[in-house]
Amino acid sequence: MNIETAVPLAKMTTIGTGGPAKAFARPRSLDELEEALRFAADGGLAVVVVGLGSNLLAADDGVEALVVRLEGELAEVEVEGAGVVAGGGATNAVCLHRARDAGLGGFEFACAIPGTVGGGVKMNAGAYGRDWSELVARALVATADGAEWRALSELELSYRSSALRPGEVVARVELRLEPRPRDAIRATVAELIAQRKATQPTNKRTFGSVFKNSPGEIGAGRMLELCGLKGYRIGGAVISPKHANFIENAGGATSGDCIALMVEARRRALEQFGALLEREVALVGGLDLPDQPT
Ligand SMILES: Cc1cc2nc3c(=O)[nH]c(=O)nc-3n(C[C@H](O)[C@H](O)[C@H](O)COP(=O)(O)OP(=O)(O)OC[C@H]3O[C@@H](n4cnc5c(N)ncnc54)[C@H](O)[C@@H]3O)c2cc1C
Repeated sequence: MNIETAVPLAKMTTIGTGGPAKAFARPRSLDELEEALRFAADGGLAVVVVGLGSNLLAADDGVEALVVRLEGELAEVEVEGAGVVAGGGATNAVCLHRARDAGLGGFEFACAIPGTVGGGVKMNAGAYGRDWSELVARALVATADGAEWRALSELELSYRSSALRPGEVVARVELRLEPRPRDAIRATVAELIAQRKATQPTNKRTFGSVFKNSPGEIGAGRMLELCGLKGYRIGGAVISPKHANFIENAGGATSGDCIALMVEARRRALEQFGALLEREVALVGGLDLPDQPT
Protein backbone atom coordinates (compact mmCIF):
# COMPACT_ATOMS: atom_id res chain seq x y z
CA MET A 1 0.00 0.00 0.00
CA ASN A 2 1.59 3.21 -1.20
CA ILE A 3 1.23 6.11 1.25
CA GLU A 4 1.58 9.48 -0.45
CA THR A 5 2.43 12.71 1.34
CA ALA A 6 1.43 16.35 0.90
CA VAL A 7 -1.47 15.58 -1.43
CA PRO A 8 -3.45 18.82 -1.91
CA LEU A 9 -7.06 18.36 -0.81
CA ALA A 10 -8.17 21.38 -2.85
CA LYS A 11 -8.10 18.98 -5.81
CA MET A 12 -10.43 16.57 -4.03
CA THR A 13 -13.19 18.86 -2.85
CA THR A 14 -15.92 20.26 -5.07
CA ILE A 15 -15.48 23.74 -3.55
CA GLY A 16 -11.77 23.56 -4.48
CA THR A 17 -10.27 24.53 -1.12
CA GLY A 18 -8.14 22.72 1.47
CA GLY A 19 -4.46 22.24 2.24
CA PRO A 20 -2.35 19.07 2.02
CA ALA A 21 -3.08 15.76 3.71
CA LYS A 22 -0.23 14.61 5.94
CA ALA A 23 -0.66 11.09 4.54
CA PHE A 24 -2.86 9.88 1.70
CA ALA A 25 -3.87 6.38 0.60
CA ARG A 26 -5.91 5.11 -2.34
CA PRO A 27 -6.80 1.53 -1.34
CA ARG A 28 -8.20 -0.55 -4.22
CA SER A 29 -9.39 -3.56 -2.20
CA LEU A 30 -10.60 -4.36 1.29
CA ASP A 31 -7.19 -5.82 2.18
CA GLU A 32 -5.46 -2.61 1.09
CA LEU A 33 -7.96 -0.52 3.04
CA GLU A 34 -7.38 -2.55 6.20
CA GLU A 35 -3.62 -2.24 5.69
CA ALA A 36 -3.93 1.56 5.39
CA LEU A 37 -6.10 1.73 8.50
CA ARG A 38 -3.55 -0.33 10.47
CA PHE A 39 -0.79 1.99 9.22
CA ALA A 40 -2.74 4.95 10.63
CA ALA A 41 -3.44 3.20 13.94
CA ASP A 42 0.23 2.19 14.35
CA GLY A 43 1.35 5.77 13.65
CA GLY A 44 -1.31 7.33 15.90
CA LEU A 45 -2.85 9.12 12.91
CA ALA A 46 -6.55 9.94 12.67
CA VAL A 47 -8.36 8.69 9.56
CA VAL A 48 -10.45 10.88 7.27
CA VAL A 49 -12.29 9.46 4.26
CA VAL A 50 -12.81 11.65 1.27
CA GLY A 51 -15.45 10.59 -1.22
CA LEU A 52 -16.05 13.16 -3.93
CA GLY A 53 -15.46 15.89 -1.36
CA SER A 54 -18.89 17.25 -2.22
CA ASN A 55 -19.89 18.11 1.34
CA LEU A 56 -16.46 18.61 2.80
CA LEU A 57 -14.37 21.58 3.92
CA ALA A 58 -10.73 20.84 4.72
CA ALA A 59 -8.44 23.17 6.68
CA ASP A 60 -6.32 25.50 4.57
CA ASP A 61 -3.15 24.63 6.46
CA GLY A 62 -3.67 20.95 5.86
CA VAL A 63 -5.06 17.89 7.59
CA GLU A 64 -2.93 15.98 10.12
CA ALA A 65 -4.44 12.60 9.31
CA LEU A 66 -4.35 9.69 6.94
CA VAL A 67 -6.80 10.73 4.23
CA VAL A 68 -8.27 7.75 2.41
CA ARG A 69 -9.93 7.69 -0.98
CA LEU A 70 -11.54 4.42 -2.06
CA GLU A 71 -10.65 3.26 -5.57
CA GLY A 72 -10.53 0.03 -7.64
CA GLU A 73 -12.85 -2.69 -6.30
CA LEU A 74 -13.95 -0.30 -3.58
CA ALA A 75 -15.45 1.99 -6.23
CA GLU A 76 -17.19 -0.67 -8.31
CA VAL A 77 -20.89 -1.46 -8.60
CA GLU A 78 -22.36 -4.95 -9.10
CA VAL A 79 -26.01 -5.69 -9.79
CA GLU A 80 -27.30 -8.52 -7.59
CA GLY A 81 -30.93 -9.57 -7.97
CA ALA A 82 -33.18 -6.61 -7.18
CA GLY A 83 -30.39 -4.53 -5.78
CA VAL A 84 -26.81 -3.38 -6.17
CA VAL A 85 -23.66 -3.87 -4.16
CA ALA A 86 -21.61 -0.70 -4.47
CA GLY A 87 -18.11 0.03 -3.22
CA GLY A 88 -18.09 2.89 -0.72
CA GLY A 89 -16.10 4.91 -3.27
CA ALA A 90 -18.51 4.27 -6.16
CA THR A 91 -19.99 7.51 -7.43
CA ASN A 92 -23.74 7.96 -7.26
CA ALA A 93 -23.67 8.63 -11.01
CA VAL A 94 -22.13 5.22 -11.79
CA CYS A 95 -24.46 3.49 -9.34
CA LEU A 96 -27.51 5.12 -10.90
CA HIS A 97 -26.29 4.26 -14.40
CA ARG A 98 -25.74 0.58 -13.51
CA ALA A 99 -29.11 0.35 -11.77
CA ARG A 100 -30.88 1.95 -14.72
CA ASP A 101 -29.22 -0.40 -17.21
CA ALA A 102 -30.42 -3.33 -15.09
CA GLY A 103 -33.96 -1.89 -15.00
CA LEU A 104 -33.78 -1.13 -11.28
CA GLY A 105 -35.33 2.05 -9.92
CA GLY A 106 -35.42 3.81 -6.57
CA PHE A 107 -32.05 5.57 -6.77
CA GLU A 108 -33.22 8.31 -9.16
CA PHE A 109 -33.38 10.92 -6.37
CA ALA A 110 -29.57 10.70 -6.12
CA CYS A 111 -29.07 11.94 -9.69
CA ALA A 112 -28.19 15.46 -8.56
CA ILE A 113 -26.15 14.47 -5.50
CA PRO A 114 -22.54 14.52 -6.69
CA GLY A 115 -21.08 12.15 -4.08
CA THR A 116 -20.15 8.54 -3.46
CA VAL A 117 -22.35 5.78 -2.11
CA GLY A 118 -20.22 5.59 1.08
CA GLY A 119 -20.41 9.35 1.58
CA GLY A 120 -24.17 9.03 1.11
CA VAL A 121 -24.36 6.56 3.99
CA LYS A 122 -22.28 8.77 6.28
CA MET A 123 -24.43 11.83 5.50
CA ASN A 124 -27.69 9.94 4.89
CA ALA A 125 -27.84 12.00 1.72
CA GLY A 126 -31.23 12.73 0.27
CA ALA A 127 -33.33 14.85 -2.02
CA TYR A 128 -36.94 15.23 -3.11
CA GLY A 129 -38.23 13.64 0.09
CA ARG A 130 -36.15 10.46 -0.17
CA ASP A 131 -32.81 9.47 1.33
CA TRP A 132 -30.30 6.64 1.71
CA SER A 133 -32.13 5.20 4.71
CA GLU A 134 -34.89 3.97 2.38
CA LEU A 135 -32.47 1.94 0.24
CA VAL A 136 -29.60 0.70 2.38
CA ALA A 137 -29.89 -2.94 3.46
CA ARG A 138 -26.49 -3.07 5.15
CA ALA A 139 -22.98 -1.61 4.91
CA LEU A 140 -19.53 -3.12 5.31
CA VAL A 141 -17.67 -0.87 7.75
CA ALA A 142 -13.88 -1.10 8.09
CA THR A 143 -11.67 0.01 10.96
CA ALA A 144 -8.09 -0.85 11.94
CA ASP A 145 -9.54 -3.90 13.76
CA GLY A 146 -11.17 -5.37 10.64
CA ALA A 147 -14.43 -5.06 8.72
CA GLU A 148 -17.97 -6.00 9.71
CA TRP A 149 -21.38 -5.74 8.08
CA ARG A 150 -23.76 -3.37 9.85
CA ALA A 151 -27.50 -3.59 9.34
CA LEU A 152 -29.49 -0.48 8.51
CA SER A 153 -30.75 -0.21 12.10
CA GLU A 154 -27.15 -0.16 13.42
CA LEU A 155 -26.22 2.67 11.06
CA GLU A 156 -28.91 4.89 12.66
CA LEU A 157 -29.51 6.96 9.55
CA SER A 158 -31.52 10.10 10.19
CA TYR A 159 -31.74 13.51 8.54
CA ARG A 160 -28.22 14.08 7.10
CA SER A 161 -26.66 12.02 9.84
CA SER A 162 -25.53 8.51 10.78
CA ALA A 163 -24.01 6.73 13.76
CA LEU A 164 -20.69 6.21 11.92
CA ARG A 165 -17.80 7.45 14.00
CA PRO A 166 -14.70 9.27 12.71
CA GLY A 167 -12.29 6.74 11.22
CA GLU A 168 -15.00 4.19 10.36
CA VAL A 169 -14.94 3.61 6.62
CA VAL A 170 -17.91 2.42 4.59
CA ALA A 171 -16.21 0.00 2.22
CA ARG A 172 -19.26 -1.56 0.56
CA VAL A 173 -23.02 -0.95 0.58
CA GLU A 174 -25.97 -3.14 -0.35
CA LEU A 175 -28.86 -1.12 -1.74
CA ARG A 176 -32.36 -2.52 -2.22
CA LEU A 177 -33.98 -1.30 -5.41
CA GLU A 178 -37.09 -2.22 -7.34
CA PRO A 179 -37.78 -3.19 -10.97
CA ARG A 180 -38.64 -0.12 -13.06
CA PRO A 181 -38.60 0.44 -16.85
CA ARG A 182 -35.43 2.19 -18.04
CA ASP A 183 -37.38 4.88 -19.89
CA ALA A 184 -39.30 5.76 -16.74
CA ILE A 185 -36.00 6.05 -14.82
CA ARG A 186 -34.56 8.29 -17.57
CA ALA A 187 -37.63 10.51 -17.56
CA THR A 188 -37.58 10.94 -13.76
CA VAL A 189 -33.87 11.77 -13.80
CA ALA A 190 -34.30 14.36 -16.57
CA GLU A 191 -37.13 16.01 -14.65
CA LEU A 192 -35.20 16.11 -11.35
CA ILE A 193 -32.09 17.52 -13.01
CA ALA A 194 -34.12 20.25 -14.69
CA GLN A 195 -35.64 21.19 -11.30
CA ARG A 196 -32.15 21.36 -9.81
CA LYS A 197 -30.74 23.58 -12.53
CA ALA A 198 -33.63 25.99 -12.07
CA THR A 199 -33.08 26.48 -8.34
CA GLN A 200 -29.45 25.72 -7.43
CA PRO A 201 -26.00 26.88 -8.61
CA THR A 202 -25.19 23.59 -10.33
CA ASN A 203 -22.51 25.11 -12.57
CA LYS A 204 -20.44 26.64 -9.74
CA ARG A 205 -17.91 25.25 -7.27
CA THR A 206 -19.85 24.63 -4.04
CA PHE A 207 -20.09 21.96 -1.34
CA GLY A 208 -23.86 21.58 -1.47
CA SER A 209 -26.02 22.66 1.44
CA VAL A 210 -24.18 24.65 4.07
CA PHE A 211 -26.78 24.27 6.84
CA LYS A 212 -29.48 21.73 7.64
CA ASN A 213 -33.14 22.64 7.45
CA SER A 214 -35.00 22.47 10.76
CA PRO A 215 -38.49 20.99 10.91
CA GLY A 216 -41.15 23.62 11.47
CA GLU A 217 -38.90 26.48 10.34
CA ILE A 218 -38.53 28.02 6.93
CA GLY A 219 -35.63 26.46 5.02
CA ALA A 220 -32.10 27.69 5.77
CA GLY A 221 -31.76 29.01 2.21
CA ARG A 222 -34.94 31.11 2.40
CA MET A 223 -33.97 32.36 5.86
CA LEU A 224 -30.54 33.52 4.68
CA GLU A 225 -32.10 35.08 1.60
CA LEU A 226 -34.45 37.08 3.83
CA CYS A 227 -31.38 38.16 5.84
CA GLY A 228 -30.19 39.80 2.62
CA LEU A 229 -27.21 37.50 2.29
CA LYS A 230 -27.48 36.45 -1.35
CA GLY A 231 -24.30 37.64 -3.05
CA TYR A 232 -22.58 38.46 0.29
CA ARG A 233 -18.85 37.93 -0.13
CA ILE A 234 -15.85 37.32 2.11
CA GLY A 235 -12.51 36.90 0.32
CA GLY A 236 -13.06 34.55 -2.61
CA ALA A 237 -16.23 32.94 -1.21
CA VAL A 238 -19.72 34.23 -1.89
CA ILE A 239 -23.19 33.24 -0.72
CA SER A 240 -24.80 32.04 -3.90
CA PRO A 241 -26.98 34.66 -5.59
CA LYS A 242 -29.12 31.72 -6.79
CA HIS A 243 -29.66 29.83 -3.51
CA ALA A 244 -28.52 31.28 -0.18
CA ASN A 245 -27.80 27.89 1.43
CA PHE A 246 -24.86 27.43 -0.97
CA ILE A 247 -21.43 29.04 -0.84
CA GLU A 248 -19.66 29.45 -4.17
CA ASN A 249 -15.94 29.65 -4.79
CA ALA A 250 -15.89 32.84 -6.83
CA GLY A 251 -12.12 32.51 -7.41
CA GLY A 252 -9.32 32.02 -4.92
CA ALA A 253 -11.64 31.13 -2.03
CA THR A 254 -10.17 29.50 1.06
CA SER A 255 -11.89 27.24 3.57
CA GLY A 256 -11.34 30.10 6.04
CA ASP A 257 -13.42 32.41 3.81
CA CYS A 258 -16.22 29.80 3.78
CA ILE A 259 -16.14 29.46 7.57
CA ALA A 260 -16.23 33.26 7.95
CA LEU A 261 -19.35 33.35 5.74
CA MET A 262 -20.93 30.58 7.80
CA VAL A 263 -20.23 32.48 11.04
CA GLU A 264 -21.85 35.61 9.63
CA ALA A 265 -24.83 33.67 8.22
CA ARG A 266 -25.51 32.05 11.60
CA ARG A 267 -25.20 35.38 13.39
CA ARG A 268 -27.76 36.98 11.08
CA ALA A 269 -30.18 34.02 11.23
CA LEU A 270 -30.09 34.14 15.03
CA GLU A 271 -30.54 37.91 15.11
CA GLN A 272 -33.39 38.01 12.59
CA PHE A 273 -35.18 34.69 13.14
CA GLY A 274 -33.95 33.46 16.53
CA ALA A 275 -32.80 30.32 14.67
CA LEU A 276 -29.63 28.42 15.49
CA LEU A 277 -28.51 27.00 12.15
CA GLU A 278 -26.79 23.63 12.33
CA ARG A 279 -24.08 22.98 9.79
CA GLU A 280 -24.50 20.18 7.25
CA VAL A 281 -21.04 20.33 5.68
CA ALA A 282 -18.35 18.08 7.23
CA LEU A 283 -15.27 19.91 8.57
CA VAL A 284 -11.85 18.25 8.64
CA GLY A 285 -8.45 19.36 9.90
CA GLY A 286 -8.49 22.04 12.56
CA LEU A 287 -11.60 23.74 11.17
CA ASP A 288 -14.33 24.62 13.62
CA LEU A 289 -17.61 26.48 13.70
CA PRO A 290 -18.38 27.61 17.23
CA ASP A 291 -21.54 26.03 18.75
CA GLN A 292 -23.05 29.43 19.34
CA PRO A 293 -23.01 32.26 16.81
CA THR A 294 -20.75 35.11 17.95
C1 LIG B 1 -24.02 20.79 -6.24
C2 LIG B 1 -24.25 19.92 -5.02
C3 LIG B 1 -25.52 19.45 -4.75
C4 LIG B 1 -25.75 18.65 -3.62
N1 LIG B 1 -27.01 18.22 -3.38
C5 LIG B 1 -27.25 17.44 -2.31
C6 LIG B 1 -28.56 16.93 -2.05
O1 LIG B 1 -29.51 17.17 -2.76
N2 LIG B 1 -28.73 16.15 -0.97
C7 LIG B 1 -27.71 15.81 -0.12
O2 LIG B 1 -27.94 15.08 0.84
N3 LIG B 1 -26.46 16.28 -0.36
C8 LIG B 1 -26.20 17.06 -1.42
N4 LIG B 1 -24.94 17.53 -1.65
C9 LIG B 1 -23.87 17.23 -0.68
C10 LIG B 1 -23.08 15.95 -0.98
O3 LIG B 1 -23.11 15.66 -2.36
C11 LIG B 1 -23.61 14.75 -0.17
O4 LIG B 1 -23.55 14.98 1.22
C12 LIG B 1 -22.81 13.49 -0.50
O5 LIG B 1 -23.47 12.37 0.03
C13 LIG B 1 -21.38 13.53 0.03
O6 LIG B 1 -20.72 12.43 -0.54
P1 LIG B 1 -19.16 12.48 -0.82
O7 LIG B 1 -18.76 11.12 -1.25
O8 LIG B 1 -18.79 13.59 -1.70
O9 LIG B 1 -18.63 12.73 0.65
P2 LIG B 1 -17.52 13.79 1.10
O10 LIG B 1 -18.03 15.15 0.85
O11 LIG B 1 -16.21 13.42 0.52
O12 LIG B 1 -17.50 13.54 2.67
C14 LIG B 1 -18.60 13.91 3.47
C15 LIG B 1 -18.48 13.17 4.82
O13 LIG B 1 -18.64 11.78 4.58
C16 LIG B 1 -17.48 11.07 5.01
N5 LIG B 1 -17.28 9.96 4.06
C17 LIG B 1 -17.15 10.02 2.71
N6 LIG B 1 -17.02 8.78 2.21
C18 LIG B 1 -17.07 7.93 3.27
C19 LIG B 1 -16.98 6.52 3.41
N7 LIG B 1 -16.80 5.71 2.36
N8 LIG B 1 -17.05 5.99 4.65
C20 LIG B 1 -17.23 6.78 5.74
N9 LIG B 1 -17.31 8.12 5.67
C21 LIG B 1 -17.24 8.69 4.45
C22 LIG B 1 -16.35 12.10 4.99
O14 LIG B 1 -15.29 11.74 5.84
C23 LIG B 1 -17.12 13.33 5.46
O15 LIG B 1 -17.29 13.28 6.87
C24 LIG B 1 -24.67 18.32 -2.76
C25 LIG B 1 -23.38 18.78 -3.06
C26 LIG B 1 -23.17 19.58 -4.17
C27 LIG B 1 -21.77 20.05 -4.46
